Amino acid sequence: MSLFLYNTATRQKEAFVPQGDLVKIYVCGITAYDFCHIGHARSAVIFDVLVRYLRERGYQVHFIRNFTDIDDKIINRAAKEGRDWREVGETYMAAFHEDMDRLGVLRADEEPKATAYIGPILEMCQKLIEAGKAYATPSGDVYFRVHSYPHYGELSQQSLDDMSAGASARVGVNAEKEDPLDFALWKSAKPGEPSFPSPWGEGRPGWHIECSAMTTPWIPLDIHGGGQDLIFPHHENEKAQTEACLNTTLAKLWMHNGFVQINAEKMSKSLGNYKTIRDILESYLPETLRFFLLGKHYRSPIDFTFDEMDEAERAERRIYQTIHDVEQVLATNAKLANLPKDEEEAMRAEWQSFGERYMSAMDDDINTAQALGVIFSQVRHVNRLLEEKRLRKSRVVREFLEDFLRALHLWRTHLGLFTLDAKTFFSDLKAMRIRRTGLDLARVEDLLAQRKRAREAKDFATSDQLRGELEGLGVIVQDTPEGQKWDLA
Ligand SMILES: [Zn+2]
Repeated sequence: MSLFLYNTATRQKEAFVPQGDLVKIYVCGITAYDFCHIGHARSAVIFDVLVRYLRERGYQVHFIRNFTDIDDKIINRAAKEGRDWREVGETYMAAFHEDMDRLGVLRADEEPKATAYIGPILEMCQKLIEAGKAYATPSGDVYFRVHSYPHYGELSQQSLDDMSAGASARVGVNAEKEDPLDFALWKSAKPGEPSFPSPWGEGRPGWHIECSAMTTPWIPLDIHGGGQDLIFPHHENEKAQTEACLNTTLAKLWMHNGFVQINAEKMSKSLGNYKTIRDILESYLPETLRFFLLGKHYRSPIDFTFDEMDEAERAERRIYQTIHDVEQVLATNAKLANLPKDEEEAMRAEWQSFGERYMSAMDDDINTAQALGVIFSQVRHVNRLLEEKRLRKSRVVREFLEDFLRALHLWRTHLGLFTLDAKTFFSDLKAMRIRRTGLDLARVEDLLAQRKRAREAKDFATSDQLRGELEGLGVIVQDTPEGQKWDLA
């Protein structure tokens, strides 16, 4: 079966057919002026899964994700903090790498920075001016002539007339623009701002032209991606500039991921519900955040709540528990028996269907939500097989369990999930939950020691009373041959 991807430009799923041996993917990266929030995490994780999946399917991929390292927001932050704008950019680019490494997002093959492309940006501006598709103003700005590009508005499905009406109605339209819709390719520098020399005076690039310059060596791209909020104006403008300047298609397919909301509200700094990746990783394991983000189809909006994160954590625990159980069973030597032929055959058919359903979910526009659903059914199925001794000790189930570990390897490669060994996962999770709940560890240790003494003295009434006290703290005790073991409830 072939892979189908939804193309924003055509509003439909299309069979993915690369143009050549190398699949070229460009995703708009961050503007480096602050720590990344979960919207950035979502975009990074979904395109990471796309790239991993394509590679696993045998495609050679060249993945590019840029950094915007010159922008108003960077300049403002630098001014506010009395720092050099380059230093601000470096700080947050390094923070981006740290956060993404923790989330298991693989590094891009190429990470161009806007400031390294000033030459190509100026060339594009020149070319567009010479072709009559852009113009410089007396103040030293350069604008793109939107009406010179006949396909403007197609990507975001807006008509030029509607856009014109909207733009003219806005107050404060720049008098130097020929048309309110025209947008900046080059901005003249205000006094004291960082700037680069240009034929129109000192200035710096507009945001959209950066991506046009950085993609030029690779066009036409097989896939151009980003968050849904970039469709307009960023991608519409990028596409217009590139296609008007170079007379070629910028990208064959456009992929956009949906928004992240917080408690059903738009996430914004002013609402105070802004969540950085770092905030969340104070209380949850990085893989849990990744698991949560992949739990919804990438084009749907996703609502971040702590309840949902807890639910994702519980689901992840169930899967890791099964991984642990399977590994335990495979590590023991048991005498295996055959099941009746027809029973085995029926079981095989059911077992195979999991792998097929998983792949068809991934092939259907990288539907990770559905793929995780299949993984869950398979995990439940494995738990049932393990419960029944007759099945657990059969040759065919042994085969399935070995196959389960192969499937696990595939999920790891595609989704970047379940990458820890089960023991590490449970001990990391315990440490994280202790931190999150603020559990008084000294008190727990003390109660456990008292209980140990009571049990040694065969004082079971006190031992039970202490168990009750521990439960009151949210701690469950188990008595094992190696002594007391405890975990959070
Ligand atoms: Zn871009």
